[in-house]
Amino acid sequence: MKIPINIVLKVDKSFKGENDIIKFLSTFNGSLLPDDVNMSVYSSFLKIGQYEKCKKITFPKLVLKVKFSGNAQKELEKIMEKLNDELMKFGSLSALIYGKSNFSIVWKKGLEFECVSVLVRRTGKIFNSEIRLKMKGYLDIKVIKAFNKKIYECSRSHLEKISGGPREVDSINLSDKTRQDSANFIFIRSLLDFINSAPSESFSRAFLQTSQRYPFLFEPKNKFWDKLLKETDEQQKKILYPLLLRTRGLTRQEFETVIKWWVNMIIFLRKECDGDAGKFFNAISSKLGIDAKRKDALEVMQSLLENYDEIKTYLGLSFPYSLKAGRLFLTMMTKNERGFDLMDGVNKEHVRELNLPVDAQVLRVALNTGLIEITWVQTEEFEHNGRNAKVLPLMRSDMTELGRVAWKLVAENINIPVIELDYLIYSIGSLLCNRFGKSCYVCPITDVCKSWSKRKIREGSGVDWNRIGMFSYGKGEFDALVIRPCERCNGTLAKCVHKYDILKFSSKQDKIDLDKIK
Ligand code: SF4
Repeated sequence: MKIPINIVLKVDKSFKGENDIIKFLSTFNGSLLPDDVNMSVYSSFLKIGQYEKCKKITFPKLVLKVKFSGNAQKELEKIMEKLNDELMKFGSLSALIYGKSNFSIVWKKGLEFECVSVLVRRTGKIFNSEIRLKMKGYLDIKVIKAFNKKIYECSRSHLEKISGGPREVDSINLSDKTRQDSANFIFIRSLLDFINSAPSESFSRAFLQTSQRYPFLFEPKNKFWDKLLKETDEQQKKILYPLLLRTRGLTRQEFETVIKWWVNMIIFLRKECDGDAGKFFNAISSKLGIDAKRKDALEVMQSLLENYDEIKTYLGLSFPYSLKAGRLFLTMMTKNERGFDLMDGVNKEHVRELNLPVDAQVLRVALNTGLIEITWVQTEEFEHNGRNAKVLPLMRSDMTELGRVAWKLVAENINIPVIELDYLIYSIGSLLCNRFGKSCYVCPITDVCKSWSKRKIREGSGVDWNRIGMFSYGKGEFDALVIRPCERCNGTLAKCVHKYDILKFSSKQDKIDLDKIK
């Protein structure tokens, strides 16, 4: 079995042994994966490390993805011990296995996968590791092939009738703005979008109204900011409070915090991007030492920003730059179906290589349609809120790689960049697919959905997370994905029949035809 494992090297900023470490690892039985994004993360960190002036980063992490073969467990223990010895020589700290739950996806033949958890414990100089098989499954090629261009086009127009198109509100908003003003508007609007409690459209509309009344709020180089930034924090807040009131209540965050983030975004744009969010990619990629000629340069930059707080601190991103909102920003700023082509230095290849943010909605559609099929899980006794069940509890992020590969294959089948799928899949996931079968009769992708073909939904509701044969997200603080095989029919997630029935439009008709409603 070959297991790809991310090893994080925690080193201090005086670390100079990078070449020796690479040499050391390459002589080992495990192999480095030089083309992986993680290697770029690694080299970018080295670049940052070499910026000696970068005093703010105290412990940059170097991430190496190493593939073990043969007896993975023994190799892992050996490599961890030796790696730590090597790091000691350079006066550095330690090597760790990366990831909250240390979940690794092992790709088998075709599109089959196995998920293993990797645990490494350290006693003094001795490392003990445990590699456990947790889940088996496959990406269903039939679903990938069925999701063709025609279904994609029909789904988009179907969805537009329900909720409007991806650019609808933003196009109106941006029609009378200059390129630079549009870029800055999108920067602020999209980065705050992740905390909105209102639908994206109303959120965008409120921002438009604010920008029409007070355009200078979105113009980092306006004299207004020259003056305001000289004021105390308290005074800045008092002045901005009434001007931004239209956006209050649209976010889940304290209004005062949003105001502070707004100021920080303006400071960042002035300092790092010469007051123009359209220069974001050129400025940040060059500062992080990312070669813009790499076709995955945009993905590498985003990956660094969403994963490493040290890098955000280094760049002065004192406002949220999340996985979802950061990728929304890049999507809206580049040339694609949803974007406005406002970012300098980004080409077609960069856009093609940008990954989907695999959030709960995108994952939900992949599991409900059967695009990701789980055939076996290692269960364990699990207790939540006084209820017990035998389940496989996961972090949602454990499924990110599966979701990315799955939707990338669908996008390749349709021949579009995968980020163009985001709006469609996200909208289906958040509008229709999260109703436990109640909205399926309105769904535009029933033709590719196995829940629909069996008229049984695969997802269980949060309160029923411990019911049979389902996956469930749980509720509130329970930020996890729970997968449970069926005990009654001994069925896997795919085969179990004990699930909620999907609602039909009427006893004679399964689906609704929106065009026929007058
Ligand atoms: S048919 Fe239902 S379960 Fe399938 S993708 Fe659509 S909403 Fe989700």
